[in-house]
Amino acid sequence: MKSVIKRFPILVVDDDPVSRTLLEKILKKEGFDVITAQDGKEALELFQKHYIPIIITDWVMPKMDGIELCKAIRNMESPGYVYLIMVTSNRSDKDDIVKALESGADDYVSKPFYMPELLARIKTGLRILELERSLKEANEKIKRLSITDPLTGCYNRSYLNEHLPREIKRTIRYEYPLSISMADIDHFKKVNDTYGHQAGDEVLKAFSNIIKSLTRNGVDWIARYGGEEFIIVFPETEIEGVKAAVERIREKIESTPIKTRRYIINITSSFGIACFDPKRRKDISPDKFINEADKMLYEAKKEGRNRIKAVLL
Ligand code: GH3
Ligand code: MG
Ligand code: MG
Repeated sequence: MKSVIKRFPILVVDDDPVSRTLLEKILKKEGFDVITAQDGKEALELFQKHYIPIIITDWVMPKMDGIELCKAIRNMESPGYVYLIMVTSNRSDKDDIVKALESGADDYVSKPFYMPELLARIKTGLRILELERSLKEANEKIKRLSITDPLTGCYNRSYLNEHLPREIKRTIRYEYPLSISMADIDHFKKVNDTYGHQAGDEVLKAFSNIIKSLTRNGVDWIARYGGEEFIIVFPETEIEGVKAAVERIREKIESTPIKTRRYIINITSSFGIACFDPKRRKDISPDKFINEADKMLYEAKKEGRNRIKAVLL
């Protein structure tokens, strides 16, 4: 058995202390983390506190039996699949096996255990859990890719379209100001024309990395809006705060020579800022919000570039 998959803990549920302790001992010796409960009710209470992916449960128990436990687990929301093995002691009757499976058990094993068989059945469960885990990982990767700009690693426009409305709703609910800034590299076309598209790409990456490094981790977020335009979202940030933060970014860009593979390139950038304060106006549409930041960016460009311009809405 691969040791990596043994990290899935096992919950052993049995009202008989002798068989419970014996099974616990054997499974621990096999390298599993084992948690025990003495009836279905206790198991369910444990399960409500921590998700346990493998449950081996006795059938006949006081308070809550194995069948009821299986049904209860299947009716619960949990962060992952639960592989349930029912112990059908003295019940080799085929109808009982059907009943166990229909209550939600994945498998059954009869007492007294033939240990190699039980371990082999646990292994089957581990394969399924492992499969679920890798599926989940693949799904998360697809999701991550679908919201990320491949060149810069920033969020993409579709993420912006989905999340800016949420930020606006949240800011209205909590009555905090919300600020955004549209950032644009000055004369970027010249960078491409002078040094080539490849160097241009490297400049774009470095530009977004500087922005990332100067914004609050896990709070502020950046989306690539167009070719060399980025929207930075500053939740819970009033106008003076956002102006100071963006000014720091502007200065850093101006003072940082960007090392590409073949050249060292100096750039400047311009920023349009819009701050929405729900105490001043009730609502704003995402389009209008972005448009206001864009207008400020236009002003900054018009006034000579390498500067910030802000509006309070
Ligand atoms: P301004 O100061 O007015 O912003 O001038 P600019 O030259 O930066 O503005 P403009 O919007 O006219 O040009 C943007 C350029 O960005 C044009 C396009 O070729 C380039 N660009 C857009 N996306 C990419 C990209 O992914 N990689 C590279 N290397 N260049 C890009
Ligand atoms: Mg530009
Ligand atoms: Mg542009």
